[in-house]
Amino acid sequence: MAVIRDSSNIKVEDGTATVSGWVQDIRNMGGISFLTLRDRYGTIQITMPKKKIDPELFGLLTKLSRETVVSVTGEVKASNQTALGLEIIPASAEVLSEAAVPLPMGVIDKVNVEMDTRLNNRFMDLRKPEVRAIFELKALMVELIEEAVRGNGFVQVYTPKISAAGAEGGAELFQVQYFDRPAYLAQSPQLYKQILMSTGLDRIYEIAPAFRAERSNTNRHVTEFISFDGEMSWIENEEQVMAMIEEIIDHVLVGLKERGKKQLEILGKEINVPARPYPILTYSECLKIVNDGGLPLKEGDDLGTEGEKIVGDVMAGKGVDLYFIAEYPEEAKPFYIMEKDGTPYSFSFDLDYRGQEISSGGQREHRYDRLVARMEKKGLNPDDFSFYLDAFKYGMPPHGGWGIGIERLLVKMLDLPNIREAILFPRDPSRLSP
Ligand code: ATP
Ligand code: MG
Repeated sequence: MAVIRDSSNIKVEDGTATVSGWVQDIRNMGGISFLTLRDRYGTIQITMPKKKIDPELFGLLTKLSRETVVSVTGEVKASNQTALGLEIIPASAEVLSEAAVPLPMGVIDKVNVEMDTRLNNRFMDLRKPEVRAIFELKALMVELIEEAVRGNGFVQVYTPKISAAGAEGGAELFQVQYFDRPAYLAQSPQLYKQILMSTGLDRIYEIAPAFRAERSNTNRHVTEFISFDGEMSWIENEEQVMAMIEEIIDHVLVGLKERGKKQLEILGKEINVPARPYPILTYSECLKIVNDGGLPLKEGDDLGTEGEKIVGDVMAGKGVDLYFIAEYPEEAKPFYIMEKDGTPYSFSFDLDYRGQEISSGGQREHRYDRLVARMEKKGLNPDDFSFYLDAFKYGMPPHGGWGIGIERLLVKMLDLPNIREAILFPRDPSRLSP
């Protein structure tokens, strides 16, 4: 007898099979009843002609509450009434876990459920194939990212998530009690990535949680996200970093399209693989686009959500999904970014995907004196960063890198309405559970 975990793999020739899953639906039509059993891979129909089934078994199976977990053994028969082309006529069944009534939310009901209700009952929400498909694609995306970076000689590293100092600005730090002194949750692995550049590990990457204490309630900010960071030495300019990101993203898009077909079909989505190279706009060019679009930003201003969107719309008009915005004013970028001497700009860039930032990166300042000067200019006390600065004192190669929010990337690739759709258990200012 075949015991089958993947119901979609059952063949009529198997004769008898045992299938297990959740009771999705029961329809009683008088002389005959149908039970739809769902597992990870799909659904299978249990068909129960009343006259041919043991009355006790018939009674048990037709009265099960929805979402009960059950194992059913029976004869596999060909059927032209079901999608799988077969059905199971039960001979025995075992209830493994009965579902309470009523359910906190439906699994197959087509009514629109609020996102809050869905997230409060995420275990139930995830029973929907189209919700699960997002996370299967997320896992595939990480696999593809790793293929691309490893293929380019990057070494995976883990940097601490509890730290004495932040890199991206003090206001966004979560403080934690670290025995008798304060510590902070890592906003990014920035400082540690750079320290490693002084060691000979000249290409490294990390895919790990990052924490931001931002009270923003938007569809693209959360307080905990997964950051894909890379850092590479021996670069001559930031364009080499952009080229690396482009290669990685392209590998991901092509790979998702080819290897994520099943999940993309469930979601009803298609992946567009943009032509390479991705265009590089400068900040100044974007400022002009934004001004022409009616938003009166001045030199030095942050492009902001609205500005990014205007640029995205103009690029969409040219059929461009992904583009870099380079040479931001040094003032708008963190201390570790290298200035473009003799100008107010810097060797920094963002990667935008249809009007939204998904990555920031650039060439770093590797010269000790210049780095200290930039820290002071930004109002930071170099003494607080000695653990970082020491690595620059004794031989540091030129280097650059990036941080990519993997949920932001996924949301854009799949055109999802909210970053929370791409996180199993999202954290935001009002959500700490489940
Ligand atoms: P934004 O201006 O969009 O808030 P940022 O410039 O503050 O982003 P960075 O510090 O540059 O973000 O972080 C690098 C990347 O990490 C971003 O491009 C984005 O993909 C991701 N990221 C940053 N903050 C968040 C957040 N709160 N939620 C989800 N992803 C984030
Ligand atoms: Mg940024």
